[in-house]
Amino acid sequence: MRRLAKKTIFNIRPYVPGKPIEEVKRELGLTRVIKLASNENPFGPSPQALRAVVKALKQVNRYPDSGCYHLRRMLSHRLRVAPQQLVFGNGSDEIIVLAVRAFVREGDEVVVAKPSFLIYEIASRIAGARVKAVALKDFCYDLQAMKRAVTPRTRIVFLGNPDNPSGKYLTQRQVEDFLKGLHKNVLVFMDEAYYEYVRARDYVDSVQLLKAYKNIIIARTFSKMYGLAGLRIGYGIADEEVIDCLNRLREPFNVNSLAQTAAVACLNDQSYYRNVGLKVDRQRRWLYDNLRNLGLKYVESYTNFVLIDMQTDASRVARRLLKKGVIVRDMRPWGLKNYIRVTIGTEPENRKFLKALKEI
Ligand SMILES: *Cc1c(COP(=O)(O)O)cnc(C)c1O
Repeated sequence: MRRLAKKTIFNIRPYVPGKPIEEVKRELGLTRVIKLASNENPFGPSPQALRAVVKALKQVNRYPDSGCYHLRRMLSHRLRVAPQQLVFGNGSDEIIVLAVRAFVREGDEVVVAKPSFLIYEIASRIAGARVKAVALKDFCYDLQAMKRAVTPRTRIVFLGNPDNPSGKYLTQRQVEDFLKGLHKNVLVFMDEAYYEYVRARDYVDSVQLLKAYKNIIIARTFSKMYGLAGLRIGYGIADEEVIDCLNRLREPFNVNSLAQTAAVACLNDQSYYRNVGLKVDRQRRWLYDNLRNLGLKYVESYTNFVLIDMQTDASRVARRLLKKGVIVRDMRPWGLKNYIRVTIGTEPENRKFLKALKEI
């Protein structure tokens, strides 16, 4: 049957997710396992959101609201954009996929950073696109080089902001300079999955840029700070015309009812999430201090994860940590052969990670 499948699906190496806790317990016969591999919120979603989900469970016999009415109204209000400037997805991954399916034809080009979030590349290759990957410079985007990589065939430039795995962000100034003089036919996809974690004052206000630029798509998610990774919900913000294109491709019931209910409840509990942000900030500083004491270098991050230079084969380190019940990301497949990526966990989780790290 393989020969009957579209050729482009063989252009990709499938995405390998972080190992689930249960799987590691089963495979290694461990009883206590912590996962610091997928940048989830270890404190869980707001209790208010959980209560809302339990209540909404009684109605799962009904199809969800295809238009995400309540969530759309709420976000449109908060972001000061028209309701028609929003599209919702089964995670923000789906927004990436929709953008590629709507705008990238076979033989077109996309520009990504290297290393960056793998879904940009995977979705583009499936569409039959040529992927131009521009190396990071000192773990930051080389925007000049990325602009030079744009040709008349380029449909999308992907900017992870902050990016994964680097944890670095782009400033207002950098993004504006990039957009100026870029051909208006090139879409700039700004993936802001970690938006809620960024404290920096000069972080770009991308929604405000939509007033001047119609060729931007912004993606945000409830998977990271909001702690709803398992429910799958994210959204895109763009010009109405762009959103209309994505909506045409979207499956009518792509966002389930529990996710919609939970997302609304999360937005209504900002004080809970402010506290999550503070805890992550504190734990990240704690981790930095301890890594420095161990003589380990790390890449300063503006998110809830950190790249650590192990100064030795990262795959080996990750395997040995796994045996001690700590799941981290081996960054070798991203071309960072000595790096692991570690999500900031709860205080006990971070202590367990550090203890395991010291032991090996
Ligand atoms: C986690 C992540 C996403 C998307 O996650 P969803 O769960 O699909 O919303 C998107 N981009 C980056 C850079 C991420 O790290």
